[in-house]
Amino acid sequence: MDLIVHSLYSNKEVFLRELVSNASDALDKLRYLSVTDPDLLKDGPELDIRIQTDKDNGIITITDSGIGMTRQELVESLGTIASSGTAKFLKALKESQEASVDSNLIGQFGVGFYSAFLVADKVAVSTKSPRSEKQYVWEAESESNSYTIREETDPEKLLPRGTRLTLYLKRDDKGFAHPERIQKLVKNYSQFVSFPIYTWQEKG
Ligand code: ADP
Ligand code: MG
Repeated sequence: MDLIVHSLYSNKEVFLRELVSNASDALDKLRYLSVTDPDLLKDGPELDIRIQTDKDNGIITITDSGIGMTRQELVESLGTIASSGTAKFLKALKESQEASVDSNLIGQFGVGFYSAFLVADKVAVSTKSPRSEKQYVWEAESESNSYTIREETDPEKLLPRGTRLTLYLKRDDKGFAHPERIQKLVKNYSQFVSFPIYTWQEKG
């Protein structure tokens, strides 16, 4: 089990595959549900994934135009992760670097959303469901075992529909915000994603 933690740490880059696969799942879900409920696409027909890098600030954003989450779905999907999973997961990761791990902990986790914390100190998830009037932001830091949810009020950050993840990279992992690196990972890991993935970088 120690091996799992170790191999996770040396393969941190799996975060991108996990997050792109969540984006793809959200797009699949929207496409599927829109067959019987075409109104779900009223905010735009595009189904795509956009990855933006800001290497100067060490920030990656991953935006999908998928099904998004209502406030309640945010709490149900990510809330429990932050209050139990992520915290324990991170604690186990940290301890594994020092001594031996209580290995049973690790077995309880798949690598999913919280793999974002392999490379990020802080993660924000801003999301707009076509079934909700409002857009919400879930935010958590790797050092804390709690999260916050607030309404998105910045007009520049409002999405027509879908989800935007913002990863504030750890000091030693800011290299992931280089566009070439992201393009390479996207190519390696996400070539079977059936939606277009666009990558671009923040102007320097
Ligand atoms: P899994 O993908 O195996 O369900 P994750 O930890 O990767 O587990 O994600 C947890 C849940 O968070 C997902 O099941 C989904 O409900 C929600 N979620 C994560 N990312 C997104 C996204 N981009 N859009 C909509 N929902 C999402
Ligand atoms: Mg997943």
